[in-house]
Amino acid sequence: MKRFRSIVRSHFTIVALFLSASVAFTQDPRAQLSYAVSLANPEQHLVEVKITLPPGSSDRELQLPVWNALYQIRDFSQYINWIRAKDRAETPLAVRELNKSRWQIHGTSAGAVVEYEIYLDSPGPFGAQLSVHHAFLNLAQLLMYPVDARNAPLVLRFSHVPSDWHIATPLKSVDDSYVAENYDRLVDSPVEIGTFHESDFDDSGAHFRVIIDADPADYNAEKIVGALHKVVSSAISWMNDRPFDTYTFFYHFPRGPAGGGMEHAYSTAIDVSADQLRQNLDVLTGVTAHEFFHLWNVKRIRPKSLEPVDYTRENYTRALWFSEGCTSTVEGFIQLRAGLLDEKGYLARLGDEITELELRPARLTQSAEESSLDAWLEGFGYYRRPDRSISYYNKGELLGIMLDLAVRNASHGQASLREVLQWMNNNYAKRGRFFDDSNGVREAAEIVSHSDLDSFFTSYVAGTEEIPWDDFLRSVGLRVEALTTTVPDPGFVASRNFDGPMAVAAVAPGSEAERAGLQVGDTILELQGKPAGQESRQELSRLNPGDTLTVKVRSRRAGERELKWKISSRQEVSYDVKDLDRVSVDQRARRAAWLKGEAQVGASGAIGQ
Ligand SMILES: [Zn+2]
Repeated sequence: MKRFRSIVRSHFTIVALFLSASVAFTQDPRAQLSYAVSLANPEQHLVEVKITLPPGSSDRELQLPVWNALYQIRDFSQYINWIRAKDRAETPLAVRELNKSRWQIHGTSAGAVVEYEIYLDSPGPFGAQLSVHHAFLNLAQLLMYPVDARNAPLVLRFSHVPSDWHIATPLKSVDDSYVAENYDRLVDSPVEIGTFHESDFDDSGAHFRVIIDADPADYNAEKIVGALHKVVSSAISWMNDRPFDTYTFFYHFPRGPAGGGMEHAYSTAIDVSADQLRQNLDVLTGVTAHEFFHLWNVKRIRPKSLEPVDYTRENYTRALWFSEGCTSTVEGFIQLRAGLLDEKGYLARLGDEITELELRPARLTQSAEESSLDAWLEGFGYYRRPDRSISYYNKGELLGIMLDLAVRNASHGQASLREVLQWMNNNYAKRGRFFDDSNGVREAAEIVSHSDLDSFFTSYVAGTEEIPWDDFLRSVGLRVEALTTTVPDPGFVASRNFDGPMAVAAVAPGSEAERAGLQVGDTILELQGKPAGQESRQELSRLNPGDTLTVKVRSRRAGERELKWKISSRQEVSYDVKDLDRVSVDQRARRAAWLKGEAQVGASGAIGQ
C-alpha cells in the first residue's frame, strides 16, 4: 500500500517538546554516559560540548575521531579551542593530551564532566556546521568517545536551540533527549537543526521522513517525494528486503557548488546544487538511489576490513570497488526499474563510464583494489591526476556491470548481480557477519553462478588487464565503438575532492591557458561567471573552439585574479555502446532481463556465441 502525505511541522509541537518536563532516561542520570551540546554561539560557529562520564576507573581516555564519513584523514581535533574536566564536586581534574586527538583525564573514579569548545563551519553532507541559518552535524566531528566505553549506551541533549528551530535525526528520542545504543550508532546518525521543511511518506511498509533545508523557491517537495517513492520501492523490491521501519532523507540545495551524499544505516544526507535541481531531478534521484542502496551495500553488507571502525587511523580496505562501485551499478538498475532512466540513457551512461576509464592512463598501473586502498590519498590534487589514479567508483561500477554479465553467462541467465547481492545480504548482513573483501564477493558470485570466476577477479579486480568490453557485452547484443572526435580543449585539467574546491591539476604545456597565467594548484572560484562546482564540466562542454573562457582563480602566491583565453581544440577518443549489426532474439531477451536487473525467468540451455 502506498500513501502520500506532506506536512510542515508546526513548531508549537516541537517547542512543547523542549519545554516538557525532563524525565530521566535511567534511574540515576549520573550512571549514564551523556553528551550535552550547546548551540549558544552560532554567529561564531562555536559549540560547547559537555560529556558526563559515569563512575569507573580513575584514569579515563577520550578520543575524537580523525576520520569519519569520507575515507580521508580530516583531524577534527584541529577545531578544538580548549578542553577541561572536573569531578562531581566541581573540583578541576588534570587533563593530559596523549596525542593530537586523545586526552587522558585523571581522578574520574566517581565520575567526571569533561567540557570543550569546538569550531564547526564545514558545510555539506560529510561535515559539521553551526551557523545563524542552521546546524547540520556529523556527530563524529564534534563528539569524543571514552576509549573504554565506546559500546556503552548513551544520551545526547541539545541546549540553547533557537525557539523557531526544529531537530531532525534518525536517533531515537526519549523525552527531551536522544539515545543511542553505542557511539558507532550515534555517529552514524546526522542531525539537522533549523527551520527545515519536512515531508513524510509511507512506502513498502516503512515510514520515510524527508528533511529539506533550502530556499523554498528552489525546489518542489511534492515532485521530490514522488521520485523518492519510485526509488525506495524499486530498491526494496530489487533486494527483496527492508531492514528498517523508518528512514530519513536529509537534503540541502545550496546556491553554487554542492555535491555528494553520505550514506548511513537509517538515513542519508545529500547536497544537490539549486542550479542543477532547477533543470531536472536526475542528479537528485541518481545520488538518492546510490545512497539509499548503501543501507545494504556497505552499511549492512560490510567488508570485514572496515570492522570494527578504527577512528584513530586509516581503515584500509580493498573492497571500495564493490562497496562504492557496485553501489553505482545498482543505482543504475534502481533508476531503470523505477522508470527514471531508459535504455538509451543507460547505454549512453555506460559509454561515458567506459570513456572515463579508458582516458585514464593509470588504468594500466593501478588496480581497482589498489584504488580502494588509496582512497585515503584522494584529498591530494596530484593523486587525482589521470596518470596517477583511477576511480574505484568508475571502474567499480563497470566491474559490477561486467560481473553481472559474467554471472548471467555462466549461469545461463539463471542468476545475476541481484542474486549475488541477495546472497551476501542473507549470508553476511542478516547473520551479523562481515565479508572477506574481494574474496567474499567472488565466493558469492561463484556460488550463485556455479562457476569459477578466478580469472575475472585476478585480471580485472586485483589486476590491471584491459577489460574486453565486447566479450562481455556480446551476450546482450552490444559492442563498444571508439570514436575520434574534435573536442574543445580548455588547456587544463581540474579536479575536486568531493565537495571541496576545484583545483587545477595540470596545465597543457604551450597552451593558451598556460600563456594566460593559469598554474597547477590554482583554485578555480568561478568559470564563465558561475561558481565552480559539479556543473562546471557541462559549462565547459558547451564551449566551442575559438570561444573565450573566463575563469576567476586564486592562489597563495598570486592572490585572486581573472584570466581569459581562447578555447582551442584537440582530438579525443570516446566510446559508444551500440547494437551489434545483427541482434538475435536471444540477445534481445537477455538484454531485456539485464536492463531490469533481473535473472531471466525460465532461462535454460547454453548461451550462443
Ligand atoms: Zn557511495
